[in-house]
Amino acid sequence: MAERTGGGGFAVPAPVATIAMPVALWVEIAELEDRSRFDDDGLEQRAERVLAAVREVGRTELERRARLIQADLVRRRGNVAEAGRAAEEIHRWAADHGSRCLLARSHFVLTAVFQELGDLSLALEHAVRAVELLDEDVRPQARIDHHARLADCLGLNGDLAARDRYDHVLQLAEEIGDVDRQLLVLNNRAYCESLSGRFEEALVWSTKLQDLAARHGVPLRVGRLDTVGRALLELDRLEDAEAAMLPGLHPEVLDASLDGDAGADFLLTLAEIRRRRGHLQQAQESLDECVRRCERYGLTAIRVRARREEAELHAADGRFRAAYEQHKLYCAELMDLQSTERDARARALQAMYETAEARQQSRRYRELSLRDPLTGLYNRRYVDEELPRLLTGRPGTIAVALLDLDHFKRINDTCSHESGDQVLRTVADLLQRTGALEDPGRDPSSFVARLGGEEFLLVLAGVDAATAEIHAEDVRRAIAAHPWAEVTAGLPVTVSIGLASSEGLTDPSPADLLGRADARLYAAKRQGRNRVVTAA
Ligand code: GH3
Ligand code: MG
Ligand code: MG
Repeated sequence: MAERTGGGGFAVPAPVATIAMPVALWVEIAELEDRSRFDDDGLEQRAERVLAAVREVGRTELERRARLIQADLVRRRGNVAEAGRAAEEIHRWAADHGSRCLLARSHFVLTAVFQELGDLSLALEHAVRAVELLDEDVRPQARIDHHARLADCLGLNGDLAARDRYDHVLQLAEEIGDVDRQLLVLNNRAYCESLSGRFEEALVWSTKLQDLAARHGVPLRVGRLDTVGRALLELDRLEDAEAAMLPGLHPEVLDASLDGDAGADFLLTLAEIRRRRGHLQQAQESLDECVRRCERYGLTAIRVRARREEAELHAADGRFRAAYEQHKLYCAELMDLQSTERDARARALQAMYETAEARQQSRRYRELSLRDPLTGLYNRRYVDEELPRLLTGRPGTIAVALLDLDHFKRINDTCSHESGDQVLRTVADLLQRTGALEDPGRDPSSFVARLGGEEFLLVLAGVDAATAEIHAEDVRRAIAAHPWAEVTAGLPVTVSIGLASSEGLTDPSPADLLGRADARLYAAKRQGRNRVVTAA
């Protein structure tokens, strides 16, 4: 059984701006990131404490790092969907805020999430990004963790390239004398070899795992004992397999792992070894204990595999009727499990994408808030946001044409308010279809907005003053020439336009430009309406 997953440390940037912030908190988070894939005592309590503390201080990036640690521990306990949701959310925050270390770390956690959801290609994508985003000066523990997880993804995919990667991370772990990480890499490598049916190879790495643990007096956890036992079992070295597994039966070892399923998995392998040795009574005991754990912790997948082992055990004992019944149950439950797992996977993925959808929604709401509902044109808020950007953020001339319908009140009064609305919508259409905005070669920053009432603004980017005047004149003519009679009962519709250009001005402000246009619009009205005025 592999420790495919778990957390890894992340870059320790110099603790700037943490003078007011207890440095201890920051150090604790970095340490938890380093330890979150191991089985240290009290890991979850430490994660809780640091999260509460960091929330009090209210530092957003640190708070998210702490939440990500917690999400990863939640995943190890078996709640993959919840972990995935949290990790996705943190990932998006990191992307929006350009937090590279948090991005890398969230890719790292998401790799584990997708591994567990059985989506190995998505897992691989996240693993690759998690490695790419590592900073030069990242802590070596984090470098090892991210590269090791990439190797796991390749290994789980049956890709032989995993071997070189495992060699590489093993060397890194040896260089810094990190025994825990060496054990982890050896275990995962052995597990991947077993998974691909290369049991001799698996045994080579299992043996290295055992030797290293023995040399450092580190007891092997059940997950690792399972890796060793599995390799020996598949090679038919049953006595050695059972001997290798025995330390795991110690209650303290059996329950020491954070991973919810490690104990049950171990007991199932042990039952199989014992059965094949002919120790049926002992095999039954292991199996019973395995089943008890499955039921206690809701480990459906292992429960189904335990059924098959139960059938084998009955058969070994000559109870073929019972074996047959168990086998039938096994087949039925396996089918159920496959559909339940599919459902669970779908639910988890959906939950993760719902948050993405919500974000899209809010983007849509924002877009809506910048639009005028009557005409669909941009509104004044958009102008307030966009015009300063256009004037400061780029070279080139900007022209603004302020338009006001002439004697519009008359249309409302003579016809109806609805007719007035219809005129406003038609003017909006005509404005959008003016040469300046329709031209495929136009500057995409150009736009038209309704400022309110019967007042519109045409913003022309990358157009000199003379060309802007031609466009404004086109607009005026097009509106005057439109067949309005049907809507306005014969009343004409015309516009007055005040035009101002940034040409020749140094650093004009939006207010400056709009003020000039407004003064010229007023002049156009005074001079008799239905005209464009370009100079005061
Ligand atoms: P001028 O040529 O001097 O601009 O005369 P005007 O009648 O166009 O100007 P005035 O400012 O006196 O009147 C504007 C009118 O526009 C008054 C208001 O009822 C009408 N109006 C403002 N918003 C809307 C709207 O959304 N729909 C309709 N139908 N009318 C509107
Ligand atoms: Mg007006
Ligand atoms: Mg008017």
